[in-house]
Formats: sequence, structure tokens, C-alpha cells
Amino acid sequence: MTRSKNIAVLGSTGSIGQSALEVVRALPNLNVLAISGHRNLEKLVDQAREFSPQFLVAADPEAAKAFEFPRLPGTEILIGPDQLERIASLPEVDTVLAAIVGVAGLPSTWAAVASGKTVALANKETLVVAGHLMTEMADRSGARILPVDSEHSAVFQALKSGTRAEVGRIVLTASGGPFRDFDSNQMKCVTVEQALAHPTWEMGQKITIDSATMMNKTLEVIEAKWLFGLKPEQIEVVIHPQSIVHSLVEFVDGSTIAQLSPPDMKLPIQYALTYPDRVLGPSPRLDLTQAMKLEFYPPDVDRFPALELGFEVVKFGGSTGAVLNAANEAAVAAFLNQEISFTDIVTACREILDQHHYEPHPTLSQLIAADRWARQEISKWMIA
Ligand code: NAD
Ligand code: MG
Repeated sequence: MTRSKNIAVLGSTGSIGQSALEVVRALPNLNVLAISGHRNLEKLVDQAREFSPQFLVAADPEAAKAFEFPRLPGTEILIGPDQLERIASLPEVDTVLAAIVGVAGLPSTWAAVASGKTVALANKETLVVAGHLMTEMADRSGARILPVDSEHSAVFQALKSGTRAEVGRIVLTASGGPFRDFDSNQMKCVTVEQALAHPTWEMGQKITIDSATMMNKTLEVIEAKWLFGLKPEQIEVVIHPQSIVHSLVEFVDGSTIAQLSPPDMKLPIQYALTYPDRVLGPSPRLDLTQAMKLEFYPPDVDRFPALELGFEVVKFGGSTGAVLNAANEAAVAAFLNQEISFTDIVTACREILDQHHYEPHPTLSQLIAADRWARQEISKWMIA
């Protein structure tokens, strides 16, 4: 049994949100105090019926206006994006699961960090955009940011084998996505349908495309820098197609500690929600009586140029993360709308990162301006 906790699940209708609710179903000491969704309000209402949260936030006012909410006894219905910040900072909430996709999750994650919550962070884009401000704010408010991303959860767990000063480097594993064996020509003709078919993980659309371009690993390299305070030379990426070893930490004496489990997000979500406790939950186990292969090989940066961008952002910091993230969000949306090709996503991100006016110590409003600028540049890039 884990200790009792009240949690707010931001983005409960998404892939991470639904897996989190599966964990909650199995662990009676976790109480869902608030849930939120964007446009899928049918699902949000079903979740409210099952979990009876005190608050339900429908973040998109247009969708909420067009929807007829049923009576939900005991649940207050709140409408609009500002309400996400309200539920993220409620005094009764212990842990906020930040599982909104993209920079749209930044204001609510910021509110949770500013009010000193334990933040179970799935929304990696928030750290990519504003890692320096988030970590400074967490230091001031006493908030704790716990990783939900499977690689970072693995690193977080492995780090317990030594002190921070004893860490040599971390190795983030990547499945390599559906195109790890494609050559550059094949990559140019990838369709939306092909890119949405991930070999080992079932996830939301945006992260599935990010995995196919390997931009996801780029975002995770930046996320790792902020979560664990690492230098660029302490972070490595290795391709591991089976997605069983979720990441590794090499200590200075040469000992490498890895975390293994089947590819299923319930385990890293549960660990962030029950931390520091480990409890029996709904996650599948490894069956080591069945023959299995664990392969590791270096990534090919010529075919996956996205990877270099992450190391640049780790090195330069400042406004680079906000620009890269926004360019990528806009380019992924354009690819999903069939307005640009698959390889255009990273090409456009590279060009826009190179063109941007670098600001070494941006404020939150400067980061928001950099985000807006990069999105406009993607629109111009598409016309050019
Ligand atoms: P998803 O698309 O399945 O779900 C996104 C959630 O955010 C939904 O609840 C949606 O309603 C909500 N949302 C979307 N746009 C919004 C907006 N503008 N305002 C408010 N709410 C909005 O995405 P996902 O796969 O669950 O990923 C969520 C986050 O977790 C992402 O940052 C992703 O990178 C990260 N993550 C996901 C996985 C995974 O396995 N799915 C693994 C690691 C990290
Ligand atoms: Mg991951």
C-alpha cells in the first residue's frame, strides 16, 4: 500500500492520462481530485463518472460550448485553459500529473511548480522550453519534479546506486522508431500512416511522430539535462530496438546500472505517483524464461539529423529550446495535415534554429515570444 495522495491529472483523456487512471484503479490510496481534457469531452465525462473528481476542466472553450454536459453530482465543471492553472495549484492537491502534450502544458506545469507541488512530469516540452526557469522555481518553491518519461524514470531509479558526484554519464535508449532501417530516399516518401505506426510503444500522435524523426530523443536529451543537472558530454543516446532497457547510468568506476521492464508506461507513471514507495501495481513483468535478445547500437545522425539539435540546445540553452520545440510542434502539425513531407520536419527545425535571434537569459515572456516567432517562421517556410 502506498501512502494516501490527492492527484490532479492534467491531460487525463490522453495516452499517459488514461494509463495513469489505470494505475489509480489498482491503487486505492491514490485519489483523483481533478481531471482535464481538451476536445474529447465524452471521454472526460466517462472518467468523471468513474472517478468522481471534485473538479473537471474542459480546456477548450469552443468544444465545451458545443457540448452538453450531463449532471455530474459532486464534480464541478470548469471551462477554459486558465482553469488548468487553478487545479494545478489547489491546496488539497499533493501531486500533479502533467500529461498535456506540447507547450500548451507549460502554464499549468508552471503553476504546479510555483505552488510547491510534487510534479509527475510527462510533459517534456515544458522543460525543453523553460528548463532553467522551471528548475529555479522548483528550488524556490520546494516543488519536486519527478520524471514520468520512461528513460528518465530509468535514470532516476539507477541514480540511486551512487552519489551525483559519482555519475560518469547517462545513456538514454531509443527504439529508433519505425524507420530505423530506412535509407534517406525511403525516408523522403514516408506517409502519415507509416509514421504513426510505432513498433514498440502506443502513444499520442505528436510523440509518435517525434519518435519516428527521433526528435523525441532530442527533446529527452534536453529534458535529462534539466532533470539531472548534466553536461552535454555526460549524455549519450543508443538505439535499443526492443525497448526493454529503458536507460542506463554509468558511474565513474565503470559500473553501469540499467532499469528493465516491458515497454509499458504504467510502471514509470506509478513510480512517480507513489514515490518514494514501490508497491504492487498493474504493470506487466518481464518473462526471462522466454528467449529474448537485447541489442544496442549507435544512432545514425546522417539519417536522423534531429539528434544533433538536442545537443546544441543542451550546449547553448537560453532561447534555443523554445525555438526548437515550437518549430517542431508546428512542423509536426503540418506533416499530420499533409502540408509538408516527413523529412521536412527536421530540415525546417534546423533552418529556424539557425536563423533565430539567440537570447542567453530569456524571461518567460521572451520564451513565449520566441515560441510565437518560430511558429510564424514555419508558416513562412511552408510557403517559400
Ligand atoms: P495525447 O495526445 O495522447 O494526450 C494529450 C492530452 O493533452 C489529452 O488529454 C488532450 O486532451 C490534452 N491536450 C491537448 N492539447 C491541449 C491543449 N491545447 N490544452 C489543454 N489540454 C490539451 O499525448 P500523450 O501521448 O499522452 O503525451 C502527453 C505528454 O506525455 C507529451 O508531452 C509526451 O511527450 C509525454 N510522454 C508520452 C508518452 C506516451 O507513452 N504517450 C511517453 C513519454 C512521455
Ligand atoms: Mg521517452
